[in-house]
Amino acid sequence: MINTVECHTHGEQEETFVCQHLAGALSTGEKVGFFWSGGPRGDAWCSACEEVRVREGGATGDWNERSEAFASIKLLCGACYDRLRAQHGI
Ligand SMILES: [Zn+2]
Ligand SMILES: [Zn+2]
Repeated sequence: MINTVECHTHGEQEETFVCQHLAGALSTGEKVGFFWSGGPRGDAWCSACEEVRVREGGATGDWNERSEAFASIKLLCGACYDRLRAQHGI
């Protein structure tokens, strides 16, 4: 059972989650770095968020309130997610 989201461009799609910077990069076409939690469409975040995640989470790299606030994860449609990943050459 997957949750879906209605995208203006792609219609009904699988729900995915990315940091606010990646969500912004979708319209600018910029490369901001692409890290994700694994799986075909795992939650994704940018280089800046990765830096904060490692600084805050140490060796385990766990997210905490500060790194999550910095990432400010946004909901994105699966097709937009795929486009964003391709934009970063992944
Ligand atoms: Zn980010
Ligand atoms: Zn879309």
